Amino acid sequence: MTQRPPDEGSDRRKQGKSGFPEGSFPEENFPVQRSDAEWRERLSPESYHVLREHGTEPAFRNAYHDHKEAGIYECAGCGNALFSSRHKYDSGSGWPSFTQPLNDTAIGTKADHSFLMVRVEVFCSQCGGHLGHVFSDGPKPTGMRYCMNSAALQFRAAADINKEDTST
Ligand SMILES: [Zn+2]
Repeated sequence: MTQRPPDEGSDRRKQGKSGFPEGSFPEENFPVQRSDAEWRERLSPESYHVLREHGTEPAFRNAYHDHKEAGIYECAGCGNALFSSRHKYDSGSGWPSFTQPLNDTAIGTKADHSFLMVRVEVFCSQCGGHLGHVFSDGPKPTGMRYCMNSAALQFRAAADINKEDTST
């Protein structure tokens, strides 16, 4: 189903702010590739619905909207580190909200014209999984609100990350 000719996405487009070409994002360009059956097997039904079907989970009835621990939020699909608790804030929306991603390469964005609105979709740069949307009504210093779905994220506490760091 996801097999397409390899030349389909080869047209060069101007680079977006995220470092990714704006416009189309052919699935074969993402480093992490899995079949639909594999995604269904690996992900919970909620995570599959958000990440692979562009779903939106219910406001407030999700894992991380009021989560305040220090750590990193990773992609539930591929483990890519996406957001830091340092940039999380209470937007009142009922979804986990951040003022910025962890770094410039963690996510990509593209225009989303579904539901008669023009929104900016946010997706994982590694697996292409849908994460949520970004709006320009956030607080200082960025003025951005990255409105994410908890089901697209998995939290790793800072203490656990330090424990695994054996390089020092
Ligand atoms: Zn991912």
